Amino acid sequence: MQALMMDQPLLISSVLQHAARHHAGVEIVSRRVEGDIHRYTYAQCEARARQLASALQMHGMQSGDRIATLAWNGYRHMEIYYAVGGSGSVIHTINPRLHPDQIAWIVNHAEDRMMAFDATFLPIVQAIAKRCPTVSKWIFMAAADRIPADHGIENLVSYEDLLAQGSQAFTWPTFDETTAVGLCYTSGTTGNPKGALYSHRSSVLHAYAAALPDAMAASARDCILPVVPMFHVNAWGLPYTCPLVGAKLVMPGPALDGKSLYDLFEAEAVTYSAGVPTVWLGLLQYVQQNNLKFSTFRRTVIGGSACPPAMIKTFNDQFDVDVIHAWGMTEMSPLGTLCRLQNKHLALPHEAQRKLLEKQGHVVYGVDMKIVDDDGKEIAWDGKTYGNLLVRGPWVVKSYFRADGGDPLVYDEQGRGWFPTGDVATIDEDGYMQITDRSKDVIKSGGEWISSIDLENLAMAHPAVANAAVIGVAHPKWDERPLLVVVKKPGQEVGREQILSFYEGKIAKWWTPDDVQFVEAIPLGATGKILKTKLREAFKDYRLPSADV
Ligand code: AMP
Repeated sequence: MQALMMDQPLLISSVLQHAARHHAGVEIVSRRVEGDIHRYTYAQCEARARQLASALQMHGMQSGDRIATLAWNGYRHMEIYYAVGGSGSVIHTINPRLHPDQIAWIVNHAEDRMMAFDATFLPIVQAIAKRCPTVSKWIFMAAADRIPADHGIENLVSYEDLLAQGSQAFTWPTFDETTAVGLCYTSGTTGNPKGALYSHRSSVLHAYAAALPDAMAASARDCILPVVPMFHVNAWGLPYTCPLVGAKLVMPGPALDGKSLYDLFEAEAVTYSAGVPTVWLGLLQYVQQNNLKFSTFRRTVIGGSACPPAMIKTFNDQFDVDVIHAWGMTEMSPLGTLCRLQNKHLALPHEAQRKLLEKQGHVVYGVDMKIVDDDGKEIAWDGKTYGNLLVRGPWVVKSYFRADGGDPLVYDEQGRGWFPTGDVATIDEDGYMQITDRSKDVIKSGGEWISSIDLENLAMAHPAVANAAVIGVAHPKWDERPLLVVVKKPGQEVGREQILSFYEGKIAKWWTPDDVQFVEAIPLGATGKILKTKLREAFKDYRLPSADV
């Protein structure tokens, strides 16, 4: 029997429309690349997003076309999210910290039709524009008088000029909720990057779930500042969750240092934030050194890599800020688990509660997870036995863009597909998951990925290098930094500096290994692959010189 409820697709335009009608006067405040503070309301944001959508259509953008961004968190980026997605095209956020060669590769793979970029990233656009034939328009995200005369880019237009060509008479179209709305590439650890293609349905459901009290607990009483960039899995969905609940939104733009963030937290009465552990190190250091306190800041989501227990303790004890430890990934939109106490935990001693809150947490409704052994057999939830972590749910990818890498899913006896996360974890009796290790060998530096394979391949191109391996080594500021281990060719002499300078211009500067160690041999497995586990064991007492400064 068919139900008799209204047939209304879950489209992201409806989220901003809701905010514009029912939280019309709630502010979006942005620190602009221009340096000043910009403020307006959800109602104004929605009107400008419609105008931009109309301008994009006038310039030939159609349903399914990809429009890329290289941009900080700011109101114009927010307008592009909704103008592009809301009109049926696909917003493709690109991480500007990648090397220009990688960015060009991604733009060409996605066949982006336009790219909008902040002034900061003009040099990247200058480096790639000629290599990106599918891009017919480069949108400089500011007024025309900000564009340098000698930019040298064909088909460049100012964002404000483009927007002015549109009309606010534009109305949001209605279409199938399974239509693609966003594209975000993972940082290809085993080969090229792969695209996660989100739908309107998956994005709206994810935004609903994120807002729940035992998830991000976002509300109309909050003032939310996403430090996590809009190019890192859609700032964990906050550009959708904030208007859905009517929270005030504060965008930090390019100024992510401790002082700039603190000033914005205080000036705008921020209650809530989200970011990777590295960002909080800078902010905490600044606040501690200057003997400051937060007046309104009470909760923060920390994820992207494991949050050090000491950081949770500092936030709790010194600043009265609750930390919500969260885990997810690009392929999961990204939320999978968040760590909050349940009723049964309220009577536990403080230390036991804190121990629990160090875990990556409990799934939100929508995501299911399990751990399996190497034969795919499910492992008990005892909090001790670890296995490969698999997930499924309506905001988890079933395939990558253009089916790259084939079918990524693993099927159970009922034929249901599960996405293998590549993480190794335990799950306890209450369903709290803890990451024990990652099966991949990527290096996580400041919440960003560095591909060890890329670094090894480059080192191997050096004439004096016989073999090379890269492992992540613990670093107090960046979480991990790469260490390059090299076997020299017989009779060859080469030093640390020569090898490191070999990377110059070939990769983003921050990918360069922090140190080089020369060894007689690198441990190899039966099939000739480097045994990273053994290598890590050999260097377990090694300390990077950069860790001491
Ligand atoms: P990304 O797709 O770049 O967001 O990276 C996803 C990966 O980051 C996961 O598969 C984990 O390996 C790691 N990760 C994310 N959050 C956490 C966390 N809270 N603790 C440990 N690892 C995490």
